[in-house]
Amino acid sequence: MSKTRQCQRGWIFFDRTVCAEMSVVIFDMGLARAGGVCFEECAMVRHLYVHIPFCPKVCPYCSFYKEASDRNKTQAFLDAVLAEAEGEAGGLRPETVFFGGGTPSALSTAQLECLIGGLRGRIDFSGLREFTLEMNPATVSLEKARALLALGVDRVSMGVQSWDAELLKTLGRVHSGPQARRSYEILREAGVGNVNLDLIFGIPGQSRAQWEESLRATVELGPDHISAYCLTYEEDTEFFKMFVRGEAGPVPERDAEFFELAAELLEGAGYGQYEISNFARPGRECRHNLGYWRGEDYAGLGPSAFSTRGGWRRRNVADTEGYTRRVLGGLDRFESVEKIDEGARRFERVALGLRMREGVEEGILDSAGVERLVANGLAVRDGGRVALTRGGRLLADEIAVEMVG
Ligand code: SF4
Repeated sequence: MSKTRQCQRGWIFFDRTVCAEMSVVIFDMGLARAGGVCFEECAMVRHLYVHIPFCPKVCPYCSFYKEASDRNKTQAFLDAVLAEAEGEAGGLRPETVFFGGGTPSALSTAQLECLIGGLRGRIDFSGLREFTLEMNPATVSLEKARALLALGVDRVSMGVQSWDAELLKTLGRVHSGPQARRSYEILREAGVGNVNLDLIFGIPGQSRAQWEESLRATVELGPDHISAYCLTYEEDTEFFKMFVRGEAGPVPERDAEFFELAAELLEGAGYGQYEISNFARPGRECRHNLGYWRGEDYAGLGPSAFSTRGGWRRRNVADTEGYTRRVLGGLDRFESVEKIDEGARRFERVALGLRMREGVEEGILDSAGVERLVANGLAVRDGGRVALTRGGRLLADEIAVEMVG
């Protein structure tokens, strides 16, 4: 059947009568693409992620797609993101927007105004309830913070990682503890009402006392949200090379102890652990990440960004120059396109859901497995849902594999 038509997002698909018995309409994009869906009939997508790949300096432990800032590439990159946004706008009415990276705050105030103003002109932001932007403490200024608020950003996530000078040096961070403290004060002075601070534990050479001190110093500032991540040794990082050489690596007992210390200390200070690595004051949970962990659809813009829409997952090329060239040249920008089958969808829901305090519906779990978890004190049942206990959360990844049977 060769009859085609275009959906509201400009994607070409076979005439619907051909695919009437399917819940999604497979299209072939002129036989050039691996597959996709017509979003015309799909529910509105409520989450938007924008990946800004530039960083003032590349940290040796970081596996996100990023590159050192290069002023010559930035304007073309911004044009490409806006062009991509134009094509993605149909069926997208974000309640949450998240600018991550990389370092979004590495963009100048004028560039942020160009990008956010441009997105607002192309995408329906009328339903917006949360707009987060990641900032590096070294790139915070009062002028930038005020400009962001004027553009609608109402939540800032700042990568503090540690307050200790030696540990910041180990992590290769460009900021100092006092600078991060000052940046936090600037954000508050500007009127940012919702601030997250990121911390890392399990850093080579980090003592329990240093970790406790980092947690206490963070709580003292009174942010709305605290993320506490265990350092991981990802491939293609300098830290991974250190791990291979035997110079550093995870220490499971120490990491578990630090994790428990964080949960105890932060919960004691009024921050609820609503996800394994995330703690928030009541009502300050990150809506954007909750949507992702609950398996809701989202659109992603920028190099290496993922989009999950209508049962399909696509990833943009992880290459800023390639991404920019392809988008501005009207070419296919995807590095991968995959249909999320029922098995994969179920596993993701279980793996992500069990990391959350709200847990997952019992019906999607292996029932004998649930009995075992509850009997061993690793999970609790409540109102048809199953959630892990603190002890269970230490084993969340292994439990997820067991629970899908
Ligand atoms: S940790 Fe943050 S600042 Fe460092 S390289 Fe990664 S994205 Fe950039």
